[in-house]
Amino acid sequence: MSTHKVTPVDAGEVDHIDYETDVLIVGYGCAGAAAALEATAAGAEVIVLEKLGGGGGSSALSGGEMYLGGGTEVQRACGFEDTPGDMEAFLLAALGPNADQEKIGLYSRHSARHYQWLVDHGVPFKPSLWDSPTWVPPTDDGLMWMGEKAWPFADLAQPSPRGHRVTSDGFGGKVLMQKLFEAVNATPVAVHTDTNAVRLVTEAGRVVGVVAKQYGRHYTYRARSGVVLTTGGFADNAAMVAQHAPQLVGLGVNSDGGDDGRGIVMAQAAGAAVRHMSAAQVGISLIPGMMVRGMIVDAAGRRFINEDVYPGLVGQAALFKHGLKVWVILDEQAYEEVPENERWGVQPHFVAETLDDLEQQIGMPPGALQTTVNEYNRHAADGQDPYFHKSAQWLRPLRSPFAAIDVQRGIVPPEYGEAGRGGAEVFTIGGLHTTIDGHVLDLDGEPIPGLFAAGRASSGLHSWGYISGTSLGDGTFFGRRAGVAAAQSTSS
Ligand SMILES: Cc1cc2nc3c(=O)[nH]c(=O)nc-3n(C[C@H](O)[C@H](O)[C@H](O)COP(=O)(O)OP(=O)(O)OC[C@H]3O[C@@H](n4cnc5c(N)ncnc54)[C@H](O)[C@@H]3O)c2cc1C
Repeated sequence: MSTHKVTPVDAGEVDHIDYETDVLIVGYGCAGAAAALEATAAGAEVIVLEKLGGGGGSSALSGGEMYLGGGTEVQRACGFEDTPGDMEAFLLAALGPNADQEKIGLYSRHSARHYQWLVDHGVPFKPSLWDSPTWVPPTDDGLMWMGEKAWPFADLAQPSPRGHRVTSDGFGGKVLMQKLFEAVNATPVAVHTDTNAVRLVTEAGRVVGVVAKQYGRHYTYRARSGVVLTTGGFADNAAMVAQHAPQLVGLGVNSDGGDDGRGIVMAQAAGAAVRHMSAAQVGISLIPGMMVRGMIVDAAGRRFINEDVYPGLVGQAALFKHGLKVWVILDEQAYEEVPENERWGVQPHFVAETLDDLEQQIGMPPGALQTTVNEYNRHAADGQDPYFHKSAQWLRPLRSPFAAIDVQRGIVPPEYGEAGRGGAEVFTIGGLHTTIDGHVLDLDGEPIPGLFAAGRASSGLHSWGYISGTSLGDGTFFGRRAGVAAAQSTSS
């Protein structure tokens, strides 16, 4: 049997079964670990397949920020009275347009309980607030804002900080995965590493297993109850990116390098529908604390967004509307106000006493930047931003000397060591169309019997927008639900 093809293998063509279990989980990142924990807790025998020598995936490299709220104990300890309704209203607006209302509603109502589930499985969150715009706080504070106070979101929902950060030295994803793995290791779940699932096995329209490759040999796994695909997204698959999300071509990828989309394609070959395949998180290469104190402008020197929103939303606007030809404009005071350990080594690329000089150095049309900054300053002096409604907290007329940072030149997050990143690093947020229980749907909107998915292999809470923490958040939350549903799935 060919392992190059992706079309499902009919069970009748399989000459022997190498392994049999109730629930087979493909991919051992956060979604796979969560699915495994809940499937085994539901009484199922579970095998997890992981193509690499160890699990973790992108989840282990991540910042460890999880978007949680509705009244978690960390929020309460920090003095915030959040409600599921406010969380839902924020997410519907921020992850839209037309984000998945059913998933967001469920996720918001159960978020505080999901927080507790994580804590009960050993994941630590420190009850202290980091109160300044950043990608990842330089401290181990466990709570941070994700743009909830920014326009238009503050008009739609009572703002509360909901970025829950796994306690860690630096990025928290490694701690998250270490804790989930410790929890899995305490169960009978079997993990088969170096085992790359390449094709589904089907029988009379039901997914009953996979064919996987390990050290050059192929093995057949049979799943009595269900197969759960938690294989991550497709940002590392250049052909899939070109096909579905051409605006991402050539950009850096925010992943462990293994987001090859195989799980998505295997399921598509079995009739699965996909959603929102062109949507992406755009980790734009700038320091949020600098941008919010100044402004971001396009090649014509024009602002295009309020700089206090979650920077990924700035990234989407900068990439999809301005081709990442954008600059952060600030003054000396704004630069100096950002503590050195939050600057990630970023220094201005252009400095000038006058805006005239600065726009010439950047190559903007004469007067373009002067017009924008003069207009910004005129209103900022009154604490107003009638164009984009940036919060008065960040409004102050910019004064000479001025500086500009070219976003295309990239930044180097301390966690990355020497490797920098260009104008932006991206990952895909579209994927398999699933129900709230992780059933993969076909093109008729019917569940494909025996097939489940969660994490970035699926389309989760998002349609287009992205807020940090919603990927680890929906990956673990819907991973858990997929694990339970797969354990309860029967062929009768
Ligand atoms: C640097 C960085 C920072 C980030 N920060 C955050 C953050 O703070 N908050 C947040 O919410 N998100 C963050 N993200 C995004 C987030 O980490 C991912 O979207 C999320 O971890 C995806 O989880 P997953 O379980 O779906 O996939 P993964 O964690 O990538 O796991 C998928 C696993 O499946 C395995 N696999 C794939 N195909 C197969 C196959 N065919 N057979 C067997 N195994 C297979 C892979 O090897 C991998 O181990 C960040 C990402 C990066 C790279």
